[in-house]
Amino acid sequence: MIKSNAVYAFPARDDRPIYVTQPHLPPLAEYIPYLEKIWNSRVLTNGGPFHQQLERALCEYLGVEHIALFSNGTLALVTALQALRVTGEVITTPYSFVATAHSLLWNGIKPVFVDIDPVTLNIDPAKIEAAITADTTAIMPVHCYGRPCDVNAIEKIADNYNLKLIYDAAHAFGVKDDGGSILRHGDLSVLSFHATKVFNTFEGGAIVCPDAKTKQRIDHLKNFGFVDEVTVVASGINGKMSELNAALGILQLQYLEDAMARRKAIAEMYCELLDGIPGIRCVGHCGETVANYSYFPILVERNYPVSRDALYQLLRESNVYARRYFFPLISDFPMYRGLPSAARENLPIAADIANRVICLPIYPGLEEQQVRTVVQVISDV
Ligand SMILES: *Cc1c(COP(=O)(O)O)cnc(C)c1O
Repeated sequence: MIKSNAVYAFPARDDRPIYVTQPHLPPLAEYIPYLEKIWNSRVLTNGGPFHQQLERALCEYLGVEHIALFSNGTLALVTALQALRVTGEVITTPYSFVATAHSLLWNGIKPVFVDIDPVTLNIDPAKIEAAITADTTAIMPVHCYGRPCDVNAIEKIADNYNLKLIYDAAHAFGVKDDGGSILRHGDLSVLSFHATKVFNTFEGGAIVCPDAKTKQRIDHLKNFGFVDEVTVVASGINGKMSELNAALGILQLQYLEDAMARRKAIAEMYCELLDGIPGIRCVGHCGETVANYSYFPILVERNYPVSRDALYQLLRESNVYARRYFFPLISDFPMYRGLPSAARENLPIAADIANRVICLPIYPGLEEQQVRTVVQVISDV
C-alpha cells in the first residue's frame, strides 16, 4: 500500500542525515604520540618504521604470510597486474566498483565481462570458460560485499587454462573461510583501506601475496622500480603508503574487534526488522557466518509497492543516504559500453540486480534508533 504522503506520515525523530557509511576513527589524542614520533624522526615515507610495523601487524591480524602496503587500493590493483605481467584480456565482473575494470585499462588490458551468480552476486564460475579466448591471461574476480567468491571453482578454471588469478578483495578485509583467510586464494589479493572501507587508513591499500619473492617484486614496483640507490629494475610507480597513514592503521587495528562486533549487531538488527516486509530481500548476512558486514545490501523485489529508485528517493527525503551499489554496472560506463562483453544480453543477472539493489547504512557508530528509522521508511511505503 502506498501512502500518498509517506514522507510526512511520521515525524523525523532526528534531523541528522544518515549516510551509507561513516569512517571509523580512533580517539584523536591517541594519534598524537604517533605524529610526534614522525615529527621527531622526520621519516615520512619510503617504508619507514610504521609502514613496517603495520605490514607485520596486518599479516598477523589477517592470517597471511606477506603483505605490501599501498597508498590506495586502485594503485595496488594496477601494480598487481604489473607484478604478474598480465596482458591481453582479463575476465572480470561488471558488478563492482569501477576501479576493478579501470585498473585493467590503465595497464592496456581489455576487460571481458562475465555475468554474476544471482545468489552470491560474484562472478559466475560456470560462465567463465565460454569467455576465455587465446588472448586471455588472467581472471580478476571480486569478493563483492565481502562475501567470498566460489574460490575452488574459479581456481580450477585458472589452473586448467593456465591463467593468473587476482582477487579484488577490497571488500573482504578480515573475511575467513574454513581454511583461513579468504585472502590466501589466487595468485594475489588486493585490499583497499579507503575511508569508506571496514578498515581505513584515510586512503590506503595492500597486496597480499604468497611468497617473499613476489612481495619483493611488488615492493620494487611500488617504489619506481628502485632496488637500491643506483639500480632500477622496472618501470615502477609511486604507490607507497606514507607513515601518517601507516601509523593510523596501527591504531585503527586496536579498535577493529569492537567495530566489527558493532557492525555485526547492526546487521542482525536489520535482518530481524526487515524480515517479513513483503518485497524486501536481504542479500546474505542473515544467518550467514562468513561476512565482515562491510555492506548491507537489500534487493527490492517485484512485489514491493514502489520501484527501487522510488524507495531510494523516499529514503533521501527522510535524510537516509543509502546508496545503489553497484548501479550503474561498470560495463555501462562510456569507456566500457562498446565492448562486446558489455552488452546487456551478456549480463542479464548483473543488469537485473543493479536495478534492484540498495545498500543500507551500516557502520560502527550507527545507533539503534537510526537503524529503526531506516527500516521504518522502508516498511511504511
Ligand atoms: C574501494 C574499492 C576499490 C578501490 O580502492 P581505493 O582504495 O579507493 O583506490 C577497488 N575495488 C573495489 C571493489 C572497491 O570497493
